[in-house]
Amino acid sequence: MDVNFDCMAYISDMERTESDIMERVLKAVRGYDPEKFSEKDVENALSGGECSEDGFAALLSPAAEPFLERAAIAARRETGRRFGNSRYLFTPLYISNYCENGCVYCGFNRRNKIVRKRLEYSEIEEELLAVSESGLREILIVTGESRRYSDIEYLGGACRLARKYFSTVGLEIYPVDTTEYAYLHGCGADFVTVFQETYDVEIYSEIHPQGRKRSFPYRFNAQERALKGGMRGVGFAALLGVADFRRDAYAAGIHAGLIQRKYPHAEISFSCPRLRPTASDKGLCPKNIDERRLLQVITAFRIFMPYAGITISSRENAVFRDNAVSIAATKISAGVSVGIGGHTSGEAEGGEQFEIDDGRGVSEICGMLKGRNLQPVMNEYIYL
Ligand code: SF4
Repeated sequence: MDVNFDCMAYISDMERTESDIMERVLKAVRGYDPEKFSEKDVENALSGGECSEDGFAALLSPAAEPFLERAAIAARRETGRRFGNSRYLFTPLYISNYCENGCVYCGFNRRNKIVRKRLEYSEIEEELLAVSESGLREILIVTGESRRYSDIEYLGGACRLARKYFSTVGLEIYPVDTTEYAYLHGCGADFVTVFQETYDVEIYSEIHPQGRKRSFPYRFNAQERALKGGMRGVGFAALLGVADFRRDAYAAGIHAGLIQRKYPHAEISFSCPRLRPTASDKGLCPKNIDERRLLQVITAFRIFMPYAGITISSRENAVFRDNAVSIAATKISAGVSVGIGGHTSGEAEGGEQFEIDDGRGVSEICGMLKGRNLQPVMNEYIYL
């Protein structure tokens, strides 16, 4: 594959999506100047009622920083209105860390000399059983991006096994075509999360020097293909800290909002991951986004899209996560292992994707939630 192919192009075997959403998001981001907003704009955005795209832009701007406490109160109110005191738990299950991409910020990067591992079905089932014994009923299946080592049939088999033990099965895998999403949905997958990483096309091109992930539009349109393939929900995220976090958060919000308008039945969610150190690069750290600013992003998502789920990652420390889940986050991971395997033996065999900061298990997270008068919920969906 040509290492230097134009990142705005598709590779010949990729499905092209007829949609104007990418163009509209990129146009909106080009026109977004975070510096142009005033305190008055932020006051207006916090005055109640529906939050417009302009209001969302203001909430992400530097002018909103002194208003964080007020934004948190508004966000908590919205969260309470839409989700009550329910907070959902899940854990990711990494089943393969083979990857054909070269993302410069990731421990699974094909150039990194880590132990590579792909779980066999018997190993996946052991892991699923071990996780299910913790009481969790939602699982997120995660792989590196390798069609060779984790092909669609392999992923379908993993979904079928997961469905035996879990009522909700999510996927965080490489983007695939509509028919492949339909196949995976038929195998038991409910939702798909795709991190766009950054909506800054120039930086996207720099940090994705090779592999299929280099195609920005194929990745961008993954959520539409997943919904057309029958998935119930789709997740959006930028990896905050690889580029201008305000512009990336703004783009992720506009992207999700446009998808929600086009597919009103879709369950939309956000993740808010920040760049983390990896085993091969301990020095990686997010640019310009400290915890207050991360909370600013999370509260802006909640006020802009009150019905959206928001997941708080174990990349963040326990104190931050506990506060985020009290204010705006609706889903929290527990008992996380980001290596391959590790739920049965307690020791992951494959190399890890990034470092986590909060290693608490399911009972500790449940205890924390109850201590905050929140209700831990294991299952958010009932199939009839
Ligand atoms: S971010 Fe994803 S695609 Fe990129 S190297 Fe890591 S696992 Fe592979």
